[in-house]
Amino acid sequence: MKSIIPETIDKVIESLKKNEMEAAYFQTVAEAREEVLRRIPSGARVGIGGSITLREMGILEALEKRGNEVYDHWEEGLSKERRQEVGKMQQRADFFLASTNALTLDGKLINVDATGNRVASMIFGPERVMVIAGVNKIVKNLNEGLARLKKVAAPRNCQRRKDPTPCAQDLVCHNCDTPARLCRVTTIIERRPWGIKEFAVFLVGEELGY
Ligand code: SF4
Repeated sequence: MKSIIPETIDKVIESLKKNEMEAAYFQTVAEAREEVLRRIPSGARVGIGGSITLREMGILEALEKRGNEVYDHWEEGLSKERRQEVGKMQQRADFFLASTNALTLDGKLINVDATGNRVASMIFGPERVMVIAGVNKIVKNLNEGLARLKKVAAPRNCQRRKDPTPCAQDLVCHNCDTPARLCRVTTIIERRPWGIKEFAVFLVGEELGY
């Protein structure tokens, strides 16, 4: 695992706060999961962004078990139309949970999407957004973050999905020109978007997702 010095964590947390977001560090997944669950009332509707991190943390199961209505467009067996509909329901939920593809030392969140439902809900959806990210997502600056999308996040997602893109084979970006291209929308969140009341970023001292 990438070793992260405590000063780096402090710097990221301080930058996020400066960028009008709430920020906290949790040593373990269990602690972060507990905090996420504590903040979401049991009757709340929760949109879930496409995220390996959230699934590795077992958050979906925990929310469903206690009766939260969960909008998950990755649910198995959904038709294309229903997936699209669930993506739109995420935007109208009470909370939106996601991770981020990269998090810079100066507190920017950088993401790449194909459909855009995740990035849309992070910036113009529910009034309460929580982003959970392992320390492996920390990058030095914007350039390193944009590079991470192409070197790590997109190729590994394409490989997981078995997409017919060249990066799914060799984990190298070829700036492909195919209908399967995943890299279609890139967002940079520099500060908490105006319409979002609570934008919290929880950094976890473990390697999570990609
Ligand atoms: S542009 Fe194409 S090859 Fe490059 S990372 Fe995105 S999907 Fe993969």
